[in-house]
Amino acid sequence: MNMKNRLSNTGEFGFIEKIKKITGTGPSVIKGIGDDCAVLRYKKNKHLLFAADMLVEGVHFTLKKAKPEAIGHKALAVNISDIAACGGIPRYAVISVGMPSVTSHNYAIRLYRGIKNLARCFKIDLVGGDTNFSRKLIISIAVLGEVSKRDLLLRSGAKNRDVIVLSGALREKPDHLMFMPKIKKSQLIVKSLMPSAMIDISDGFLSDLGHVLKDSGRGALIYESLIPCKDRKYSFNNLLNTGEQFELLFTMPANRLKMLPKGFYPVGEIRPNKEGITLVDSSGKKKRVKPKGYTHF
Ligand SMILES: [Mg+2]
Repeated sequence: MNMKNRLSNTGEFGFIEKIKKITGTGPSVIKGIGDDCAVLRYKKNKHLLFAADMLVEGVHFTLKKAKPEAIGHKALAVNISDIAACGGIPRYAVISVGMPSVTSHNYAIRLYRGIKNLARCFKIDLVGGDTNFSRKLIISIAVLGEVSKRDLLLRSGAKNRDVIVLSGALREKPDHLMFMPKIKKSQLIVKSLMPSAMIDISDGFLSDLGHVLKDSGRGALIYESLIPCKDRKYSFNNLLNTGEQFELLFTMPANRLKMLPKGFYPVGEIRPNKEGITLVDSSGKKKRVKPKGYTHF
């Protein structure tokens, strides 16, 4: 086999770039592959949001460490988090599960109970899906949401001199299973802060900031001393590259900062593209950095 032909060579994001090229879309698709959700034409004042995520045993969780309720919770929560990242409200979900034949009936029910409990918190209706045999537990959920046209946020809207804000503190060891998606914070952001771009931190602060900067054609200046952190024990580098935080990272005009509620943290500002991502340490020294967040393949 040609080594150059492997996915490990293209990388997850390189692969996504390639499939983008072969999936031409019709005029009702406002945003296709490449943001947190797809955005689809819907009603006069609203768009549909469409997100999907898959969890695979041994990659995202292990049966030893994760209870089935927590696996179900996470599978839905990651999708809700993507809807939050676009400024929307989740409405419906379909759930597809692959399970080994030896899975107990009780285990399978507990998995769905985890999904249902979270769905109830956000008034999401579970409306279908599929079940299959699989050697390892696989769960894939797709969520349909709505967003008011004026609330829609993509990764591509960051403007020069906008402030970069975090919706909460970063963690070196985030709870990657039982986290709550930030729909409430997202609604507060879109209704009162005039944000220009948003993403949820799933791959890591630097990596997800990198997605916003790339799509917006911008650079960023980040002040290390402003990065909020709970339970900091390891290296700063580690903190900035730890995925599955599920806080929101967004950009907004500096003149709205007085509206920023407690628990939100400005951490830097949007700069011209050529400046890349530049970190400023507490002594004022600057250094260019590259994201090292999680990527598949
Ligand atoms: Mg996301």
